[in-house]
Amino acid sequence: MQGFSLELVVGIFKQPFFWILIICAIFCEIFYKKFRGFMGEFWLKKELSKLPSDKYFILNNIMIKSSKSTHQIDHIVISKFGIFVIEMKNYYGLITGSEYNDKWIQHLGKNKYYFNNPIHQNYGHIKALEELLNLDKSKFISIICVSNQAKLKTNAKNVINIDYINDFIKSYKKEILDDDLYDITNKIKISNIFDKNARHNHIKNIKDNINESKKQEEEMICPKCGGKLVTRNGMYGKFIGCSNYPICKYTMNIQK
Ligand SMILES: [Zn+2]
Repeated sequence: MQGFSLELVVGIFKQPFFWILIICAIFCEIFYKKFRGFMGEFWLKKELSKLPSDKYFILNNIMIKSSKSTHQIDHIVISKFGIFVIEMKNYYGLITGSEYNDKWIQHLGKNKYYFNNPIHQNYGHIKALEELLNLDKSKFISIICVSNQAKLKTNAKNVINIDYINDFIKSYKKEILDDDLYDITNKIKISNIFDKNARHNHIKNIKDNINESKKQEEEMICPKCGGKLVTRNGMYGKFIGCSNYPICKYTMNIQK
């Protein structure tokens, strides 16, 4: 019996089809994340393009420089009803987090993965656009868009799946922008950084910052203010917070 199964295994190894399958699996593992990200962007772009083009002007993948730093903005929809600034997150699984948490959590089975609150990230993008266009923050609407596969558990109303994006945008019916939409669109287009090196550096800076924050958290240093991180007892159990509370509200969950 044992001889038979060994022969079978050797037989399988000899099949070219088996090796093609293995190579495909390795290939998928490496490129799956990139592919998923690409698909999310693709679907969102496709959805946005369905908006009436005489009322909504769409800009994709814009990079602008503010007085503080560079900002990569996934999508901007310019209309009389406001300027929608969209941050796309290709997360799947269950996503939890509130407007005020520093970190949000992606739950995949029993595993938890922490990531920076995308609402805070998009806030920075809006600040940069306010500066560029010289417009008040009331003219901007922040939207965080996630793939249709993601299940959302958040109190933030502006966090939605791709399928609902157009309905959400169209729900804004009050005209709040008197400015010429062409002017606004052109101003952003002119400021858009195309330079590949600048874009590459922007991504590298973000990665460096994330690594730096992680390192500080491991050393129990607050990445926001440099204070000491301490363990506290909260309503929902133990958590780690900044010792400079209430001036600094940085918190992180205790990772299990
Ligand atoms: Zn702090």
